[in-house]
Amino acid sequence: MADDSFLFAADGTLKGVPTTVAESVRPAGPPWRVLVVDDDEEVHSVTRYALRKVSFRDRPLELVSAHSAAEAEAVLRARPDMALVLLDVVMETEDAGLRLVRTIRDELKNHAVRIILRTGQPGQAPEERVIVDYDINDYKAKTELTAQKLFTTVIAALRSFADITAIEANRRGLRQIIQAPDLRLEDTSLPGFAAVALAQMEALLEGPIRGLVCTPRGAAAAGAAPAFDVLASSGCPGAPAGQPDGTASLAWGIGPAGPADDPQAWAALVEVLQTGQSRFGPDWAALRVPVTGAPDLLAWVACERRLTPIDRNLLEVMAARMSASAGNILLYGRLRQANAELRAITQTLEARVAERTRELIEANTKLERLASIDSLTGILNRRRFMELATAERDRAARYGRTFSVLLLDLDHFKNVNDSHGHAAGDTAIRQAAELTARALRTTDTLARYGGEELVALLPETDLASAHLVAERVRALIGATPVAHDALAIPLTASLGVAEWAGPEETLAGLLNRADQALYAAKQLGRNRVEMAVRVVAA
Ligand code: GH3
Ligand code: MG
Ligand code: MG
Repeated sequence: MADDSFLFAADGTLKGVPTTVAESVRPAGPPWRVLVVDDDEEVHSVTRYALRKVSFRDRPLELVSAHSAAEAEAVLRARPDMALVLLDVVMETEDAGLRLVRTIRDELKNHAVRIILRTGQPGQAPEERVIVDYDINDYKAKTELTAQKLFTTVIAALRSFADITAIEANRRGLRQIIQAPDLRLEDTSLPGFAAVALAQMEALLEGPIRGLVCTPRGAAAAGAAPAFDVLASSGCPGAPAGQPDGTASLAWGIGPAGPADDPQAWAALVEVLQTGQSRFGPDWAALRVPVTGAPDLLAWVACERRLTPIDRNLLEVMAARMSASAGNILLYGRLRQANAELRAITQTLEARVAERTRELIEANTKLERLASIDSLTGILNRRRFMELATAERDRAARYGRTFSVLLLDLDHFKNVNDSHGHAAGDTAIRQAAELTARALRTTDTLARYGGEELVALLPETDLASAHLVAERVRALIGATPVAHDALAIPLTASLGVAEWAGPEETLAGLLNRADQALYAAKQLGRNRVEMAVRVVAA
């Protein structure tokens, strides 16, 4: 008659059959959640019994019971991670189960959960119509379900659910990697970047991690165990607080004694270093992050659950992305350094050019001064006097002003040289220049005109005033003998004074008239001042 393995009798009533499944191993993750929806309490208990030892991919099943479509809907709202619904059709209404299917897919937007319809009255919901019209994954008459069949159906559904969620997780992870905020290169150091990468891995694995990003410590002694400098760490109890800034590493590394608490990480990183390949353990990954033009980065990450193949794939994608970013950061850093060096060089060059320019200007000023100064007396020379006097004449012409000149010649100067030597003559010329300068105003200009002749330009000065000045000069020189070799050599001078006759007169003409006055002074006995004759305008 009826096979003992049937859960339900031919009339659809329950039979309650024990089933045996291999002992499950240590769970590899949270249980698969299966919702049993039926208004018959016995269906719950027999299903529970049939599936009590079932596990799939090392994860056990957790059965949740609902006794009406309404109750099931509430459960599904609260538990969107439900893997499978074993759904009765006829409950509070004839089609309560079918309506629930619509609610799950259309309203709750849960497209991942697998739905297996189990009906006791196949006539009520004909298989062909239902499987086409409703988004369900299987249709079973209660009478055809043996424990074995139920097992097969459930496992097939869980596999399908696992695949769907894996694809979804993959999609989510990739989106996360793609959407990870772009690093702002200008304020990102390698350690700062490493810290961001760890945070992204934590988000990717959707749970707390212990992790670190490091570089192999260079120049290890031959035979010494490799060690690493840690750029950033996350969740490692031994790590110093805070993240390093700048390009400095955290002031700790990892060696055979382990990173804080975990020698496994060190061993894995050494293997990555030696093989150039990323390594994976059940719940950890040691990743190689090659960086162009710099030593590899290595990342180690461990999480509290098993890593799925998808996790591994995503971590590898992540490592590739890190690789590109780290390369950019290093490149940018080098660019910035090169820029800074260039700026420093430019500044040095500019400073040097400025210094040279200043020196050049100083030298020019000195040269110009030298070119304008008489070396014996220190007063202006004739060349400079002519320039200044020309300018003064033009100024006076333009503004309708006047000025005067006086010419001075030392008397019998030849005698001084002849009697006391050339040096005494030089001293006498110098003294005459000093005394004359003292008798002039600061606005006047004094120059050595030649040999023992001086010339002065007196702006804004008419003939009478110039004459007074000339008298003062003459008196001063005459009253001041030249001290030389314990001698007091008497000295006198003759002066000719001329006031500019106006725009008609050239500078040369004016000086000529002064010279004639000087000549007159000599003629009239020396040690005296003569005023030039005024030219009568035509
Ligand atoms: P006078 O009263 O007519 O001007 O008589 P003087 O002797 O001054 O006549 P003169 O102008 O002919 O002589 C000027 C002398 O001044 C000639 C020259 O040797 C001398 N002398 C010119 N320049 C210098 C100089 O720089 N130093 C010295 N020691 N003597 C100079
Ligand atoms: Mg002379
Ligand atoms: Mg003379």
